[in-house]
Amino acid sequence: MSKCTTVDDTIRPKRLSDFIGQEALRSNLDVFIKAATENGRPLDHTLFYGNPGLGKTTLARIMSSELGVNLVSTSGPVLERSGDLAAILTNLEEGDILFIDEIHRMPPTVEEVLYPAMEDFQIDLVIGSGPGARTVKIDLAPFTLVGATTRIGLLTSPLRDRFGCVFRIEFYSPDELGRIVQRAARIMGVEISEDGAETIGRRSRGTPRIANRLLRRVRDYAHVQGDGSIDTALAEMALDRLDVDPFGLDYMDRKILTVMVENYAGGPVGVKTLAAACSEEVRTIEEIYEPYLIQCGFLKRTQRGRVVTPKAYKHLKMRCLDDGDDDQHSLL
Ligand code: ADP
Repeated sequence: MSKCTTVDDTIRPKRLSDFIGQEALRSNLDVFIKAATENGRPLDHTLFYGNPGLGKTTLARIMSSELGVNLVSTSGPVLERSGDLAAILTNLEEGDILFIDEIHRMPPTVEEVLYPAMEDFQIDLVIGSGPGARTVKIDLAPFTLVGATTRIGLLTSPLRDRFGCVFRIEFYSPDELGRIVQRAARIMGVEISEDGAETIGRRSRGTPRIANRLLRRVRDYAHVQGDGSIDTALAEMALDRLDVDPFGLDYMDRKILTVMVENYAGGPVGVKTLAAACSEEVRTIEEIYEPYLIQCGFLKRTQRGRVVTPKAYKHLKMRCLDDGDDDQHSLL
């Protein structure tokens, strides 16, 4: 059977030394991996949290290749019943990594199976039902759980406390994203100038997945409208055509800010109201759009709701009435 490899798989860094940025995380992880290898014991359970596309899955895969162990992947929403997780756990071999993506979306009954599995490498299985039901303990091979979440606040504290290593993954700088784009272009066989790569990096919302996606689209423009190579001018032209502005904001980012200004005088406005007004899901706004708008300083969260900042008014070329209270903006 042939194995299908996607472009994403080819580009994804395989070793820690290929992973660009997140210096502190990388060097800590390097120490923990070396210590576990030298002592011949499984690595402590590890949790990665941060926005989508920042490299959580990539790091789980890197851990498995650095340690030379199997990676078994699943995700919170897929694990509907405790039996689903028990079946995976009982099939793990010593040292394996079990990667659970979106771990905050695991049902509570499934989560309870994880507690003894993480702590004592044991699970309690209930056999039968009613008064005749009995519980048997099953030993598991020592394994490492690697969890990934975009919403650490939604993780219960018993689960969070069972992770020995917890790493926050930050947005990447334009320079780091430029290097990520250069590396991906090299693998894809696309010629790109350093400035061209940084132009794509600067408009990638601090996110490698977006940088790689934009690179593929800019490459298409380079093939059809240029000589196949990418420089700053071509990257800027293509990104403008793709409606990605110099801050990396796309149509929906600008819609969110514009709706807040035009319909709610710049806020404060609640996320549910905003989601309805933009025809977008609350979760998408909270997990995808809002963190980057906050990071850019275009949006602020206050106790009364979201507020557009003077910097966003300037970027959108709109005027605001700034009476000194940041929470009070309106169109003149
Ligand atoms: P997440 O699991 O956080 O949603 P992924 O690990 O799937 O994100 O990363 C998305 C893509 O971005 C991957 O295919 C990988 O190629 C790229 N990527 C992520 N982090 C890095 C990095 N630090 N260096 C190079 N490429 C990266």
